Amino acid sequence: MKIQKNVLLKEYTTFKIGGPAKYFCAVENKEDLIRAVSFAKKEKIPLFILGGGSNLLVSDEGFKGLVIKIENCKLKIVNSRVIAGAGVSLAKLVSITSNAGLSGMEWASGIPGATVGGAIRGNAGAFGAEMKDITKTVIVLEIQNPKSKIQNNNFKIKIRNFNNKDCRFSYRSSIFKENPDLIIFSCELEMKRGDKVKEKVKEILSYRKEKHPAEPSAGSIFKNLENIRARDLIEKAGLKGRTIGGAQISEHHANFIVNLGGAKSKDVLDLIDLAKKEVKNKFGIEIEEEIKYLDTK
Ligand SMILES: Cc1cc2nc3c(=O)[nH]c(=O)nc-3n(C[C@H](O)[C@H](O)[C@H](O)COP(=O)(O)OP(=O)(O)OC[C@H]3O[C@@H](n4cnc5c(N)ncnc54)[C@H](O)[C@@H]3O)c2cc1C
Repeated sequence: MKIQKNVLLKEYTTFKIGGPAKYFCAVENKEDLIRAVSFAKKEKIPLFILGGGSNLLVSDEGFKGLVIKIENCKLKIVNSRVIAGAGVSLAKLVSITSNAGLSGMEWASGIPGATVGGAIRGNAGAFGAEMKDITKTVIVLEIQNPKSKIQNNNFKIKIRNFNNKDCRFSYRSSIFKENPDLIIFSCELEMKRGDKVKEKVKEILSYRKEKHPAEPSAGSIFKNLENIRARDLIEKAGLKGRTIGGAQISEHHANFIVNLGGAKSKDVLDLIDLAKKEVKNKFGIEIEEEIKYLDTK
């Protein structure tokens, strides 16, 4: 495992925005992950776990800690069970499972970049399906700090198995989102034999191609509300096409902010603020971000 210095994070996000990480490494196995965490603790710097960077806005100032990119990409199918490393891309998972006639991941076809770990953490989903429906077990490295939140050498790493219930999945959330000391390493998914899985995958792919903007983005910026889609609120607030610097509330889909070229994180943050304020003023409704903002610290 090599720890690199000053790695530009925009190259690791689908938004193509973000400054350098002071330290950066890619890990493929548990031993390297433990080494990387130990490095951050020893240096007394914060750490950030990176998947595919498809739900992420990184500060223009970068991150003054260690970014650990999860690249555990092992994947195995046993009957209808799938054992997948957290670094497996959703694209690969969709392709391999649909070829095997397994249903449960069709919704994810056409999502660029995303990994299994990021998807479990955010209970990603679409078209009425989500990770919660198929997640059986998650293998996690837990960083146990005697005094939580304080960076020190006096920490332990425990490997734990979480079953579906332990994951406390809810709409775009899970226990892993609440607790950044839980690092998803791999998982076991229980899928079902399905009819016409490949056809469904194709259908969803062409839907996304038609409905989603082609420019770099991080997917939906805001969570939907129970009965209202955030995109409708933003559109009705008259914000479609609103541009700040290089960022724009997409003309194609109002819950996407796109990078028109050279967008800064500040441009995106300003558009997020604007959308929240306008929606609150017009409809009295507070919308909440789905994407993760990585601040410089
Ligand atoms: C065009 C487009 C369409 C999209 N469509 C959808 C959609 O239909 N439905 C949907 O739900 N999402 C969608 N997304 C958003 C995104 O793809 C998902 O949220 C995805 O699951 C994020 O995974 P990631 O690996 O890219 O995570 P990242 O963006 O790398 O990280 C997101 C968060 O997860 C954490 N994380 C990542 N890996 C791990 C790990 N192994 N352990 C612990 N924490 C981890 C990170 O620290 C960060 O806080 C879309 C994005 C794009 C760009």
